[in-house]
Amino acid sequence: MPKHRIICVEKALTNGAGQHAHHEHIVAVGTGQDGQCVERRWPLEEVLAAMRAGTTFYTQGPNSNTVTEVESYHCHKCNGFHIRSHPDHVKDNNLDELMRCPVPAPPPRRDKDDRKPQPDRRHG
Ligand SMILES: [Zn+2]
Repeated sequence: MPKHRIICVEKALTNGAGQHAHHEHIVAVGTGQDGQCVERRWPLEEVLAAMRAGTTFYTQGPNSNTVTEVESYHCHKCNGFHIRSHPDHVKDNNLDELMRCPVPAPPPRRDKDDRKPQPDRRHG
């Protein structure tokens, strides 16, 4: 099964009911195998769909090198599904501790067939 390393997150305030109004959730993530460069941006819905299809998302601490799997959970405050990292004793791989998107990202990739070679215009 494919695995994707999450290296940055986008957060946004979510409107909840009553006392739970305005709490923060991760709304998109960026993945990149080398931990430096975002190869793909995933809106939350795509992450959840991919997880349901068997794809694994994980974080890896830059200092601890500890890998933690990301799980989906149901937030009762806003009655929606969201993602979080499994709680453990290491902090630098916690989903909430990752850097914020956007990290400069390449344009989204579609099917391979749609990719056209870019003309090399460096020399005018
Ligand atoms: Zn919520």
